[in-house]
Amino acid sequence: MLNIGSHLSSAKGFLHLGKDALKIDANTFQFFLRNPRGTRAKALNQEDVDALRNFLAKHHFAPIVAHAPYTLNPCSSNARVRELAQEMFHDDLLLMKQLPGNYYNFHPGSHLGQDMDTAVSFISSMLNKELQPGQPTMVLLETMSGKGTEVGRTFQELRAIIDRVDLQEQIGVCFDACHLSDSGYDIVHNLDGVLDEFDRIIGLGYLHAFHINDSQNPPGSRKDRHALIGDGYIGLDTIVEILNHPLLRHLTFILETPTDLDGHADEIKLLRSLYRD
Ligand code: FE
Ligand code: FE
Ligand code: ZN
Repeated sequence: MLNIGSHLSSAKGFLHLGKDALKIDANTFQFFLRNPRGTRAKALNQEDVDALRNFLAKHHFAPIVAHAPYTLNPCSSNARVRELAQEMFHDDLLLMKQLPGNYYNFHPGSHLGQDMDTAVSFISSMLNKELQPGQPTMVLLETMSGKGTEVGRTFQELRAIIDRVDLQEQIGVCFDACHLSDSGYDIVHNLDGVLDEFDRIIGLGYLHAFHINDSQNPPGSRKDRHALIGDGYIGLDTIVEILNHPLLRHLTFILETPTDLDGHADEIKLLRSLYRD
């Protein structure tokens, strides 16, 4: 069974996300716990969170993915921004305790001109302060395109973060097809080689989720502009190869393509039809 869904947002609350997912034949989805560009947590409606938890169980959803806000930058050169990142991370993991068994994905951040070693130590120190033994949430580091001063463009950078984390069993990785290609990993001509390299540097056991996006820009462009499935430089054939790859086919796949609910319904229908059971 292909575990696929899309990034969803709703002003109507958490349960509504589950209902939207079901409507488009998804069995997972990604969502923000708060305004993605702001910092304010949504006023927590306990009933709504409980309702979503029950809904996911009743409809046998695969693990879902909460995405940290884009403003979260644990390796900023500004101490207040780092503090704020830790606060958001803390609050988000607290909320995720009520949706156990799922993922919390975050962008490692932007180093803003500091050296990579400093950035890596800021990120791992936040993780070491916030990860708790026995927490029910797997925290995922996303592979980044390398635009600006983004950390996490290479597998080595992610490895350096993981190396300094105490509770390594609570850390995983989320691939993003657009980011991988934009950062220079040749998933179109050499998917096996890229997976091999990941396995050598980090380990395939760390890989849990995959953002399945096409890219508006050629490989290595470091741009991070997502395209619709089959409408970019990655192409449908490679996307289908990814979904069916023996080392990847069990992952949680999330569409972050620039379209609406109907568009995601069409993409999910297409990709389910191309998944070999
Ligand atoms: Fe992301
Ligand atoms: Fe992504
Ligand atoms: Zn992106």
